[in-house]
Amino acid sequence: MKLSLVVPCYNEAENVANFQEAVISAFDGCDYDYEIVFIDDGSKDPTLHNLKKLYHAQKCPVKVVSFSRNFGKEAGLYAGLQHASGDYISLIDADLQQRPEIVRDMVKILDEQPQYDVVAAYQDRRGEGKVLSFFKKSFYTIINRMSDVTLHADASDFRTFRRSVRDSILSMAEYHRFSKGIFAWVGYDTCFIPYTACERTAGTTKWNFRKLMNYAIDGIIGFSTKPLRLATYLGVLTAIAAVIYLIVVVLQKLIVGIDVPGFATSIVLILLLGGIQLFCIGIIGEYVGKIFEQSKDRPIYIAKEILDYNDK
Ligand code: UDP
Ligand code: MG
Repeated sequence: MKLSLVVPCYNEAENVANFQEAVISAFDGCDYDYEIVFIDDGSKDPTLHNLKKLYHAQKCPVKVVSFSRNFGKEAGLYAGLQHASGDYISLIDADLQQRPEIVRDMVKILDEQPQYDVVAAYQDRRGEGKVLSFFKKSFYTIINRMSDVTLHADASDFRTFRRSVRDSILSMAEYHRFSKGIFAWVGYDTCFIPYTACERTAGTTKWNFRKLMNYAIDGIIGFSTKPLRLATYLGVLTAIAAVIYLIVVVLQKLIVGIDVPGFATSIVLILLLGGIQLFCIGIIGEYVGKIFEQSKDRPIYIAKEILDYNDK
């Protein structure tokens, strides 16, 4: 039995060595083999240099895939899965917010409970700010209502699964990758376990509010076409409202005979309808943009160097 740990790294120079140490001590005495697949996602700090040091020292089997530039965590995970040779594969961050000891528990669950193919950790959110957790909750409510797949709120990318699941994930070669959705889409029986994220040991998080917002929109666009339906509904609703208003105006004119003065109403209506139209065009544009990018059929990442312990 072999376990592959897939670790995307972007500017994690101070963390990678500690991470490897933590892995070695966590799996010390386990009766299975393991390898670490590091992906250097075009880091601008000495991450790659440090990874090469780990590779040459070979304290444990290490592979390093280094990207030609920053392609994002999702691309890193994809590359890592391609290079993972284990029977079980685990996705884990390099910053030690997710403890390798938990992976050991996940492996145990897969070993003991063959009905499960995936063990996913979801985060206890007790320490999080109110605003952020409100937005996250709203996101999950919206996406679960809209898309055909159901996402477990708070489930992270921190998970361990069998090789068959890895093959299924790799078969989804879409350019815009949204892991949470992909995991839900491929299915398989998943065991959810809670975990508490530790503080980052060094470096800073790569997320900010704007990025999270964009990520959320990409997630919704990637796994649902319901927003397009929304445009249809809005169109029908405004058309019905217009017909009703038309009847009202005509009746007023015929029965009461008043002139309907309408500067303010006209301007408000023009702005409102203009807004709705632009909004709907925006929604369509999001999808067209995705089609455009996918149709170019570009690779998900470009690796400039691959170091494999098997070649050593
Ligand atoms: N990461 C990456 N490419 C990126 C951004 C992040 O490979 O463009 C990696 C990062 O090095 C870390 C993991 O993805 O190992 C999670 O990132 P981060 O810790 O910033 O996210 P958070 O834990 O704050 O959600
Ligand atoms: Mg982190």
